[in-house]
Amino acid sequence: MGLAEYNKKRDFKKTPEPRGKAKAASGRSFVVQKHAARQLHYDFRMELEGVLTSCAIPKAPSLDPKNKRLAMETEDNPVEYGPFEGIIPKGEYGGGTVLLWDRGTWTPVEDAKKGYRAGRLKFLLDGEKLRGLFTLVKTKGRDTRDRSWLLFKDRDDFAKTAKKTIVESRPESVATGRSIEEIAASKDRV
Ligand code: MN
Repeated sequence: MGLAEYNKKRDFKKTPEPRGKAKAASGRSFVVQKHAARQLHYDFRMELEGVLTSCAIPKAPSLDPKNKRLAMETEDNPVEYGPFEGIIPKGEYGGGTVLLWDRGTWTPVEDAKKGYRAGRLKFLLDGEKLRGLFTLVKTKGRDTRDRSWLLFKDRDDFAKTAKKTIVESRPESVATGRSIEEIAASKDRV
């Protein structure tokens, strides 16, 4: 883990994304950023060991325990990336619109470092939209460099099986209340 890959992929003269350093002390923030890049996905980021460990979820997180979502591990991001919402210029890495879809804190149910390295992590989310017990589990590929995980909701009082998913009923930014179209049409960089 570390931010070398994050920094290498970005030209900070061109993108409004923050340059960041790994932090010595680790908090327990998490964010989900809806990212309308070449392919729409949701970036699920959890603060662990001073950085935001990150996964791209093509089909969005779900509160329905039967929806096991593919979550592709991507490069760690700086903790400063958490509040980011805005437009990454076309042609830059991840070019497209970013909406801060959820934010909050997470609490590991078991040892987080060990769990992450072993490829199985159970945790409680206390976000504005995602709440309750979740599991991230690495899919077992023969390739040890395999970076795919599954994210799913465990059964508890926060699980929801409604037809309308949480991303459909609550599509707005938790920071600004805007839709992704409104952010894309704006010139500001929140
Ligand atoms: Mn992304």
